[in-house]
Amino acid sequence: MKKIVRSASAVMLAGALVLAGCSGGSSGNGNGYVGKAEQDTNFNKEGLPIVKEPVTLKVVAPKAALAPNFSEMEIFKKLEKETNVKIDWENIPDTDYVEKKNLLVASDTLPDAFYAAGFTDYDLVTYGKDGTILPLEDLIDKYAPNLKKLLEKRPDIKAAITAPDGHIYGLPTFEENEIGTNPFFHAINTKWLDKLGLKFPETLDEYTDALVAFKNQDPNENGKPDEIPLSFMHMQWCMDIGGLFGAFGLPDNLEHRIVRDGKVIFTAVQPEYKEALKYFNEKWYKQGLIDPESFTQDAPQYLAKGKTSDETLGSFVWWEIEEVVGADRGKDYALVPPLKGPGGKQGIGRANGGGPARGSFVITKADKYPEITMRWIDQQYEPYMAAQIHWGPIDVVYKKDASGKLVNLPLPEGVSAGEFRQKVAPGAGAPGVITKDDFGKIVDMEPRAKQRKVDLEKFYEPYMEKENYPGIFFLPEELDTINRIEPELIKFVNTQRGKFIVDGNIDAEWDNYVKTLDKMGLKELMEVYQKGLDRYNQNIK
Ligand code: CA
Repeated sequence: MKKIVRSASAVMLAGALVLAGCSGGSSGNGNGYVGKAEQDTNFNKEGLPIVKEPVTLKVVAPKAALAPNFSEMEIFKKLEKETNVKIDWENIPDTDYVEKKNLLVASDTLPDAFYAAGFTDYDLVTYGKDGTILPLEDLIDKYAPNLKKLLEKRPDIKAAITAPDGHIYGLPTFEENEIGTNPFFHAINTKWLDKLGLKFPETLDEYTDALVAFKNQDPNENGKPDEIPLSFMHMQWCMDIGGLFGAFGLPDNLEHRIVRDGKVIFTAVQPEYKEALKYFNEKWYKQGLIDPESFTQDAPQYLAKGKTSDETLGSFVWWEIEEVVGADRGKDYALVPPLKGPGGKQGIGRANGGGPARGSFVITKADKYPEITMRWIDQQYEPYMAAQIHWGPIDVVYKKDASGKLVNLPLPEGVSAGEFRQKVAPGAGAPGVITKDDFGKIVDMEPRAKQRKVDLEKFYEPYMEKENYPGIFFLPEELDTINRIEPELIKFVNTQRGKFIVDGNIDAEWDNYVKTLDKMGLKELMEVYQKGLDRYNQNIK
């Protein structure tokens, strides 16, 4: 944008600067960023505090169910003390956040910044282009030494967050711990298997037999048919049965989009997908093995099922067993490696993306102090601070060992790591980058993440798809196509997926289903994804 303005019209540029001056706002001028704070004697360009007299910024952020308002979190109290920047947090429950964020932008009711912002590429490009959010590269250059250092050291991260127009509109969040390759950890109740004299299932049919036994043989011995053979959360991250489709030769994922030999495949129209749905309907749903609430429940409802006073959960999908069933009951469950399907196939998908996410922090045009805001957020790109933002503060979650590494303190009694993290840290989507190098040197991996890595290597990696769809930053016209077609199309696919599993009628309705997808633009959508992937693969070489 800056370049266009400079070459197109010097008059326009001068006008913009005058306007910015009058309104007390700020604007890039091509020679670096000059805003109100820059000329303010209250502002320290380096060192701490950032401002001599407190300045308040209004920041909107999603929060997890168990999290307090961020103003009550120790880590932010500490930051406020050190920087003199006070944050007026508006915390929105994470389940409502996307809708609320879109509403705030659409109605021009902007905070100074969005934090853990979850801005999509489309958001970044659209709102960057229309001026709703600011280009950040000049601000990074002048006021973000930690982030600047990181981007110099890791040009791949800089490339990943740079929009096709050359601007950086959103800051990264990244935990480079390489544990997100398969989100679908599938667990079964081994205490019940032992009690009922069943072997640990290796095939899908053996697994089905175990679910039938769970349902009919009262393994919790309370005389009531209260066992839930299998519960999950349909099409939700780390809680869906997408991994089990691999038993039919083609694993599914949340985008229904996988890559084999450089070719993009839309799973939800393939014969393997259809076979899987028929199996799940005929063998599972019709026999009452699937918890009907799997299609409607939210996470708290789902997690509560693991903690009923009599053990009732036979099998579930979640990335950590203890978070579902509690620390004591965890020993009753074990992970199930990919099961062999009726045709002998065995496999698991690889989650798409996996690099840094780039919309984690944006500064809006409403912000009178972009320099102060950038200096404030840059504190969180210092590796020790990034770790505390992501997992929790020193003295609460960590202590520094002799080598200066943050190591985990024991958890409070009876609290799972996942629950505790929600209470003390903004968590995974928050700004901050913890690189592969930082793990082990700056910060120890969470015990459960370490465990997860071990489990991934042991149970899933040998059967995993080799390729995935990388986190490509698309051209604006490509995003237009994706945004025009994909949301409705995926919604339709997901609704149908649920209906097929619950109601069956798959053979009868299949052709119509596929035709509808063609009409919705599936071919055009896949062409964009293929083109993006081809370009990406060429750039890597
Ligand atoms: Ca029972």
